[in-house]
Amino acid sequence: MNASVIIDSETLALREFHPFKANGVTYLYMVPSAGIFRMDGPSDAILETLSKSPKVKTELIDELLSQFDIDLLLETIDELIEIRAIGDIDAPKDLVPNDLPPAGFPLTTMVLNVTNKCNLACTYCYEYGEDKIVDTQYGDQPRFMAEETAKESVEFLLEECQGQDVAHITFFGGETLLNFPVLQDTVAYARRRAAEEGKRIEFSLTTNATLLRPEIIEWLADNQIGVTISIDGPKEVQDGLRVFHNGKGSYDVVEPKIKELLKRHKTRPIGARVTLTQKNMDVLRIFRHLTEEMGFWEVGLAPVTTQDQRDYAITSQGKDNMLEQFEILAQEWLECALNDKHHGFSNVKDTLEEIHKGVSKAYGCGAGLGLMGVATDGNVSLCHRFAGSPEHIIGSIKEGIDRDKQEEFLVDHHIASKTDCHTCWARPICSGGCYHEAHVQYGTSSHANLHYCTWVRSWTHTCLEIYGALAEKNPEFLNRFDA
Ligand code: SF4
Ligand code: SF4
Repeated sequence: MNASVIIDSETLALREFHPFKANGVTYLYMVPSAGIFRMDGPSDAILETLSKSPKVKTELIDELLSQFDIDLLLETIDELIEIRAIGDIDAPKDLVPNDLPPAGFPLTTMVLNVTNKCNLACTYCYEYGEDKIVDTQYGDQPRFMAEETAKESVEFLLEECQGQDVAHITFFGGETLLNFPVLQDTVAYARRRAAEEGKRIEFSLTTNATLLRPEIIEWLADNQIGVTISIDGPKEVQDGLRVFHNGKGSYDVVEPKIKELLKRHKTRPIGARVTLTQKNMDVLRIFRHLTEEMGFWEVGLAPVTTQDQRDYAITSQGKDNMLEQFEILAQEWLECALNDKHHGFSNVKDTLEEIHKGVSKAYGCGAGLGLMGVATDGNVSLCHRFAGSPEHIIGSIKEGIDRDKQEEFLVDHHIASKTDCHTCWARPICSGGCYHEAHVQYGTSSHANLHYCTWVRSWTHTCLEIYGALAEKNPEFLNRFDA
């Protein structure tokens, strides 16, 4: 809305935003644009006055005239109208956009499930545990992806990443390293084919680290493969949850292998990925063990995806406890950032990057659009967690993407279809959340993850405060999110 269309007799009211404080200064996080604006004395006073009740513009000015000069008030009102923080009380709310991504939206990340077999039997595993959506054990999926299927997947990616100079392949499992020969062949093949097409492919993989051995570590380092290790923490935690099929804990097996990997592989940062459950909620101890004692550069922690009745599902008190500890780590992260130092808590870094880039999502994540998962048989699914699930297949590497199915998915999962989210200030960042989490909780991937709303809003608020504190005290630090 243009400022000039507000006439003096119109009534001004607050529009949609989320306020937060940093260093005593008020900031506004605009919804749905995700813009961030710094307030000052007059803008604070105008917002404060309108928060009590909507006001005709002349009344508003009269009320504040003893504190501020008339020209400053008029200018500030115009600015607040311009950024849509305030506006005519009768103006329609900003509609949740419902436009679909353009046809031909490129695929940039392909997750190859090179095997659905695993040598561990982690209690909470979404692939093998009580909440599995695909029967990988007794179903008709091949246990391993064949070399031919992996090569066809590379061709599929090169075809689908049109217009992009760089594409990404992530290897996933089961336990990825059980199919090491196919990893080696695929990386060599993809490098050669990408070069022929004038493109570059970056590689990463996730592993439980049990099968790392010197020649694999050499290969990972030499080929600059990004590595994420699934690990849950110190020995008693890891051995309670991440066990071999005979029930034996895996800590003593993985610890020396991870240390060797960290010593040798310096070409890409190595991260740890922790699954938090009600049985391992000591976030601080887990984080310190993995960074200080184990030597990981980065650690990301995510709550387990499971139904509430499981004994390892995180209770609502557990979520509060998790949030408190996340906030402690976030403050430590801030202290480091203020001094241009690294801190390995990747959850805060990832959210800050989205805030900085002004991300306003129409979808919870890129699955089914810029990211897809390929099952061992070559069927293409929304992402790796749905690989092999007939209900979530949207094509195959041989026949390409079924555009009708993809469009149906994009309509059903769009924020416009998630009416519960339409009044939520956190929707630019959350947009309803992970489809796999929703499928496990509600039986459908298109449901908003309403069981996590309080948590998401609290965490986003914390990250906004950290963003504001950096903007106040060390704004240059934020430049690193532009890369
Ligand atoms: S799922 Fe909850 S937190 Fe996320 S956008 Fe929807 S209402 Fe907001
Ligand atoms: S659906 Fe969930 S698991 Fe799959 S890519 Fe999205 S956030 Fe990740």
